[in-house]
Amino acid sequence: MTTIHYPESADLRSLLRFAPEDGHIWLGEHRMLLLHAGALSELRKELIASLGQQQARRILTRMGFASGMRDAELARKARGTSNPAEAFVVGPQLHMLEGCAKVTPVRLEFGGPGNTFYGEFKWEHAWEAEAHVQQFGEVDHPSCWMMIGYASGYTSAFMGRFILFREEQCAATGASHCRIVGRPVEDWPDAHELTPYFEADTLVGRLLELREEMEAMRRSIACPKRIPSLIGNSSGFHTAYELMVKAAGTSVTVLLLGETGVGKERFARALHEMSPRRDAPFIAVNCAALPDELIESELFGVERGAFTGANVSRAGKFERADGGTLFLDEVGELPLPAQAKLLRVLQEGEIERLGDERTRKVNVRLVAATNVDLQQAVRDGRFRSDLYYRLNVYPLTIPPLRERVSDIAPLTEAIIERFQSLHGKRITGITDKAMHALKNHTWPGNVRELENVLERGVILAPMNGVIEVEHLFIGAAQEHGLQTGVSAAGVLEADAPVQQGNIADAVLETGMTLEAVEQALLQRAVERAGGNLSAAARMLGMTRPQLNYRLKKHTG
Ligand SMILES: [Zn+2]
Repeated sequence: MTTIHYPESADLRSLLRFAPEDGHIWLGEHRMLLLHAGALSELRKELIASLGQQQARRILTRMGFASGMRDAELARKARGTSNPAEAFVVGPQLHMLEGCAKVTPVRLEFGGPGNTFYGEFKWEHAWEAEAHVQQFGEVDHPSCWMMIGYASGYTSAFMGRFILFREEQCAATGASHCRIVGRPVEDWPDAHELTPYFEADTLVGRLLELREEMEAMRRSIACPKRIPSLIGNSSGFHTAYELMVKAAGTSVTVLLLGETGVGKERFARALHEMSPRRDAPFIAVNCAALPDELIESELFGVERGAFTGANVSRAGKFERADGGTLFLDEVGELPLPAQAKLLRVLQEGEIERLGDERTRKVNVRLVAATNVDLQQAVRDGRFRSDLYYRLNVYPLTIPPLRERVSDIAPLTEAIIERFQSLHGKRITGITDKAMHALKNHTWPGNVRELENVLERGVILAPMNGVIEVEHLFIGAAQEHGLQTGVSAAGVLEADAPVQQGNIADAVLETGMTLEAVEQALLQRAVERAGGNLSAAARMLGMTRPQLNYRLKKHTG
């Protein structure tokens, strides 16, 4: 039997950050809660009382499983490159750091060609056994359900196959400690008795599904044709959406207002899709993208010989949109002569191609959009007031993304989904910290900026991995504000400021010599590593012989 020693846990402790000013505790990129064990114990008791022991056990096991799976992500990140056993014991070490029990490995064998697993651990002071005994007295069955869920979830995610742990002995039965054993699920002869605790309950699950179906039905009744490209839950989004639905049935000219990148073209398309014109063309023109001398021929068409180079007759966008919808983006950029012609089309419902005497009837619903203040443009003489009043019949403002924070999560999910298939890459999700960063960004570029940021995230995140804050905002891991970490002695300690410039300033102000600074740094690293020179060398980014040499230099 091999004895397994835990590596120094400074790497794991450094993942735990207290940011009391922000009301956050982070473990890596996961948001954590410092929860009273007594309160969780109360919840556990309530679950047992209201749902019965079997259901309560299932819920707690699954909750532990979810938590173990999250910690397995950290194992890859913290010790992905070290030897597999050191990487694996991140789980037991985190379980201890999180205050669940003292975990001692008894036997651990895994890997090899068959990706086999056998793990045996001792749990002392298991919180759940203590809670169970406190509420129910000593019982005749193992009771550390959430903790077993954790061990199974962690190991399954780590191994990439379902590893099921069970308690061979539990302190809740009066034993001095708990002892757990984990094997691949198919190696347990009584697996069928254990696996139900890991599965979503069919009855409860079915009820939830039914509720979701009902809600989906209710939504589809409220909005007869839900447009998948438009996503939002916020009240600002709903207001704009409802206004659009009301306009869709009519032929009213709609003026879409909002900052750049809010998705005006998506709204225009959705409006078209919901309108009776949906089977006719939707034509989009960006007025700012066309040179002034081309804009009239683009919009209204041109007759052969109208000007040099006009060798063939060509229909303009209005004619091509006949029966459908014409979307004029950045309408505020139209030159004044084109504005006069546009006004005429809106008044008469007919167009004249350049160089043509004939007028042609067109039936087009116009949707215009602008991110400039058209009223100001009218005052400045850049925009015709009569055209402004024609366009401003049904103004619809799409709020900026920073005013619809509750839309960020559903948008993020949909956008990640889209870029996954575009880039042929699988992403399992986004961390709490990355989502927190998305919700706190001000988004001057709105949804378009969110799309750009998430596309970068999908590209930078590891295959089958999660998107972390670093993948979205370069340099964002450099925290602002002072955070608190846990020292080797278990005490919360505020960090020195992280920016290198600040460290240098702080050192210079002490008046220490370079020699003295180096000596202090080496000593502190050795202390933090508990005297383990290899670990201290790793912390300093050097080899052990290099560290030895430098230590000798100071003592010799
Ligand atoms: Zn136990």
